[in-house]
Amino acid sequence: MKLVPSICPYCGTGCGMLLIVKDEKVVGVEPWERHPINEGKLCLKGWSAHQFVHHPGRLTSPLIRKNGELVEVSWDEALDFTADKLKGIVAEHGADAVGFLASAKCTNEENYVLQKFCRYLGSPNVDHCARL
Ligand code: SF4
Repeated sequence: MKLVPSICPYCGTGCGMLLIVKDEKVVGVEPWERHPINEGKLCLKGWSAHQFVHHPGRLTSPLIRKNGELVEVSWDEALDFTADKLKGIVAEHGADAVGFLASAKCTNEENYVLQKFCRYLGSPNVDHCARL
């Protein structure tokens, strides 16, 4: 068993945690006592942050609906599909017809890139999950 330092993925606070890894699987978390953000504390979500890692219901590849069924596809196919759909919607209905939601689970840099992409498309519709 080993402890692996990490950051909680659930919100923008960024609490430090130690992943408990046994037989190459994450089986639990402990608060990181010397981490400057949380100083050894975790909220309820943080204490359960390990539970999704090996969950059988976790999505590990993109899905596209084909003939009414969700089908696993490669990232290249999913990105091409999404880009084509976005281009088509903007061409047919204008940039106001698309919008983007950022997330507290992303880094500041990822959220910055998302809003830049939104503005690149010409859309003013960018928001954040904290306002939902
Ligand atoms: S432990 Fe709670 S407060 Fe800290 S980052 Fe995770 S979700 Fe946010």
